Amino acid sequence: MGFNVYNFCIQDSPRRAHSIAAQGGINAAKCYQNDGDSIYRLFYDTVKGGDYRAREANVYRLAEVSNNIIDQCVAQGVPFAREYGGMLANRSFGGAQVSRTFYAKGQTGQQLLLGAYSSLSCQVKAGKVKLYTRYEMEDVVIVDGRARGIIAKNLVTGKLERFSANAVVIATGGYGNTYFLSTNAMGCNCTAAVQCYRKGAYFANPSYVQIHPTCIPVHGDKQSKLTLMSESLRNDGRIWVPKNIEDAKALQAGTKQGWEIPEEDRDYYLERRYPAFGNLVPRDVASRAAKERCDKGFGVNNTGLAVFLDFSESINRLGLDVIMQRYGNLFEMYEEITDVFPGDVANEINGVKYYKPMMIYPAIHYTMGGIWVDYELQTSIPGLFAIGECNFSDHGANRLGASALMQGLADGYFVLPYTIQNYLADQSIWGKVSTDLPEFDAAEKAVDAELDRLLNIKGKRSVDSIHKELGHIMWEYVGMGRTTEGLKTGLKKMHELEKEFDENLFVPGTKEGLNIELDKAIHLRDFFTMGQLVAFDALSRNESCGGHFREEYQTEEGEAKRDDENYFYVGCWDYKGKGNEPELIKEPLEYEAIKVQTRNYKN
Ligand SMILES: Cc1cc2nc3c(=O)[nH]c(=O)nc-3n(C[C@H](O)[C@H](O)[C@H](O)COP(=O)(O)OP(=O)(O)OC[C@H]3O[C@@H](n4cnc5c(N)ncnc54)[C@H](O)[C@@H]3O)c2cc1C
Repeated sequence: MGFNVYNFCIQDSPRRAHSIAAQGGINAAKCYQNDGDSIYRLFYDTVKGGDYRAREANVYRLAEVSNNIIDQCVAQGVPFAREYGGMLANRSFGGAQVSRTFYAKGQTGQQLLLGAYSSLSCQVKAGKVKLYTRYEMEDVVIVDGRARGIIAKNLVTGKLERFSANAVVIATGGYGNTYFLSTNAMGCNCTAAVQCYRKGAYFANPSYVQIHPTCIPVHGDKQSKLTLMSESLRNDGRIWVPKNIEDAKALQAGTKQGWEIPEEDRDYYLERRYPAFGNLVPRDVASRAAKERCDKGFGVNNTGLAVFLDFSESINRLGLDVIMQRYGNLFEMYEEITDVFPGDVANEINGVKYYKPMMIYPAIHYTMGGIWVDYELQTSIPGLFAIGECNFSDHGANRLGASALMQGLADGYFVLPYTIQNYLADQSIWGKVSTDLPEFDAAEKAVDAELDRLLNIKGKRSVDSIHKELGHIMWEYVGMGRTTEGLKTGLKKMHELEKEFDENLFVPGTKEGLNIELDKAIHLRDFFTMGQLVAFDALSRNESCGGHFREEYQTEEGEAKRDDENYFYVGCWDYKGKGNEPELIKEPLEYEAIKVQTRNYKN
C-alpha cells in the first residue's frame, strides 16, 4: 500500500512469532460443507460465544472478512487440508454446530505464518519494510499527544535505540504468561502493551482470560510450560470421568486404568449436560465442567486434577488410519510428553476395543482483554494502533476456537491497512519526526534508568522464582473461579510480592550485550502491573460471564450468571501510577441485530 514500515520482533525472525504454535485451524463462513453456515451465523456464534460482551459491529465486520482471509492465504500458498475432490476441508470447533474451521493438519498457525512471512519478504526485497529482529520495544514515545515512535532495545548488544514514525502499530500478543504456567510460548510477554497502558492507552476487559479445557495436566512444580492438545481433538475425542467415586479413587491411586472402566461406568459429562453441543461446547463451559467434576472428587490422574479425552469410539468407527490423518502430529506430541500413545489398544470388554485415553485439564491459554481500540483499531492515544491478540476487540468474555487467527489476520490484512490511512491522511504535513526531540530523550533515559534499577537491586531471588510465585497467586485467586474475598487476598499478595521483586531481585550480568535475565526481569515487572489489572477488573465486575467466573454469581446448575443491567459495557482502565488503583471508564455496548439472551448450549 506504499507505506514505509519498520518491523520489530523479539525473535531472530518474525517467522518464529508465537503464532506458529496455533494448531487447530482458522474459521471462515464459506459454507463448503453446505451445512447452513453463513456470515450471519458466524457473527451470531461469535457474539454468543463471547457471552454478549463483544462489540456487535466489530464482530460483524470480522465475520464478513473471514472468507477473504482464506482466499488471501491460499493465494500466498498456505497448504490447507483438502477433500479428495480438491475442495478445502473443514472440521468443527467449539460453540458452533457447523464445520467452518480450515486447517493444515495440526500446524495451521505455522503455515499461515509462513504465508505471511513470504509476503513480508517480498516487501523487504522491494525496500518498503526494514526488519529489526531481536529488538524489543520498551516504550512508546508521545509527542504532542500523538504516538511518534518507540524506544527499542537491541537484545543482542543491549543498546537502546530510538525510532520515529508517523504512526505506531503494536501486534505483540497476549498476557497469558502473567500466570507463569500457560500454553503460550515462553517468550510471550506484555511489556509493549503495558508500557502503552502506562503512557495513557486504555486497557480493556483485562479479567477476560481464557482457560482452555484440553491441556496436558501439570505434573510437578519444576514445570515452566504447559502443552495444549488442540480443541480439534474434541471433534472425535469424547471427554469423560468415572461415574463411580470408587473408580475415581482407584484411578487416582494408580490401582486401576481408564481402559479398564467399561462404557456403562463412564460419565460423558459434557454430552450429559449439553446434549446439543456435547463435547463441542465453548471452552469456558468445558473448562468449568471439568473443574466441577474434579472438585467433586471424580478427577483422574494421581492428582485428581484431570479428565479423560478418549478416542476409542472414533477409532472403532473410522479406523486408526483416519484418526491419524486428522490428528497424527497431536498424538505423537502427546506420546512424546507422556509416553502414552492414544492410538494403542489397551483392553477389550464384551468385544469392544478400548484405547489408551489422553488425560487433560484446563490451563491458561488466551487473553480476550487487551489494549482498548476503536472501530479503526486505534487506541486512546492518537497514532497508536493495536492488532491481534494484544487488542481487546472481538471476542467479548470468551473466544471461540479458531477465531484468534481469524481476528489477527482480519485486523492485519483487511482492517488496519484501510483504517490507518484515515489517520495518516493528514500526517504528511509532519514530515519525518526527529528522534532528537526531548520526548525521545526523556523516554530513552527513563528506560535506561529502569534497566539500572533492576540490575542494582542485587537481591537474592531469581526472576523465575518470583514469577512462579506470581503465577501461583494468579491461578489460586484470579483463576478459574473468583470471589470478592479471594481477589482482595490476591491483590494483597501481589502487592507484597511486587515489593519483594523491587527489593530482593537478583539479575546477573550487565546491560551491555545479551542479558536474557534482564529481559525477563522487565517482562516480570510488567506482569505485576498486568496481574493487578486483571484482579481489579475481576473485582469490579460483579457478575459471571465467559472466562470471568465469579463464584458468587452462578445459577443453581453452576452456569455463569450475567448481570446485563449493570455490566453491559466494555471496562476500560486508565493507568494512575504504580500501586494506585486505575480508573474505570465504561464504554456501553450497543446491540442492534442480535437479541441479548442467556447462553444456551443444552438444546
Ligand atoms: C498452543 C496454542 C495453540 C493455538 N491454536 C490456535 C488455533 O488453532 N486457532 C486460532 O485461531 N488460535 C489459536 N491460538 C491462539 C493464537 O495462536 C494467538 O492468539 C495468535 O497467534 C496471536 O497472534 P499475534 O500476532 O497477535 O501475536 P504473536 O503471534 O504472539 O506475535 C507477537 C509478535 O510480537 C513480537 N513482540 C512481542 N513483544 C514485543 C516487544 N516488546 N517488542 C517487539 N516485538 C515484540 C513478537 O516477536 C511476535 O512477533 C493458539 C494459541 C496457543 C498458545
